[in-house]
Amino acid sequence: MRRVLVASRNAKKLGELRRILADAGIEGLEVVGLNEVPPYEEAPETGATFEENALAKARDGAAATGLACVADDSGIAVDALNGMPGVLSARWSGRHGDDAANNELLLGQLSDVPDTRRGARFVSACALVADGREVVMLGEWAGHVARKPAGDGGFGYDPLFVPDGGTVSAAELTPAEKDAASHRGRALKALLPALAALVK
Ligand code: IMP
Repeated sequence: MRRVLVASRNAKKLGELRRILADAGIEGLEVVGLNEVPPYEEAPETGATFEENALAKARDGAAATGLACVADDSGIAVDALNGMPGVLSARWSGRHGDDAANNELLLGQLSDVPDTRRGARFVSACALVADGREVVMLGEWAGHVARKPAGDGGFGYDPLFVPDGGTVSAAELTPAEKDAASHRGRALKALLPALAALVK
């Protein structure tokens, strides 16, 4: 078995990559998270793009552990805000990871924006650094920002985000439905050839 580090402590992200590898029939890779490797200094996310942040995290993880390393960076890009919050999504309200405050601020900012201009996308960049090679893939999930939150699944901006082609928010989807359509799922699937090459 070759170990692949996912530079995350989020059990959902580890599980998602394990399921995607299994569904693709890729054997021989053992996915481990940050809690399963010796601690190392994790640099703050200062990049201007999702790709830069994902690559920086994957480079750090590979350099610190010697393992192949997958890292992601994600957020929501709102058309009426010229693509913001973007890489600042997690700390849009000024407090890192305060989902309720981030959602409330975003709703307030869009209060006068009509339904025809509420388009948004979730974006995820997933990077793989291994054996001196670097690959980064982008996945997107298009939809719009609703006028009020709905649902209690998911995390982050999910209660406000209604994916195109449906009427319910991402927080009202089952985990399997979200995985199948989401930005992160798409970016991880695009990384599959590079992951498969690790065990050839
Ligand atoms: P991170 O890449 O895990 O640091 O996520 C960045 C931020 O983007 C999160 O804190 C959320 O606010 C937002 N975000 C990223 N992916 C999603 C998603 O699938 N649903 C809702 N919010 C998301």
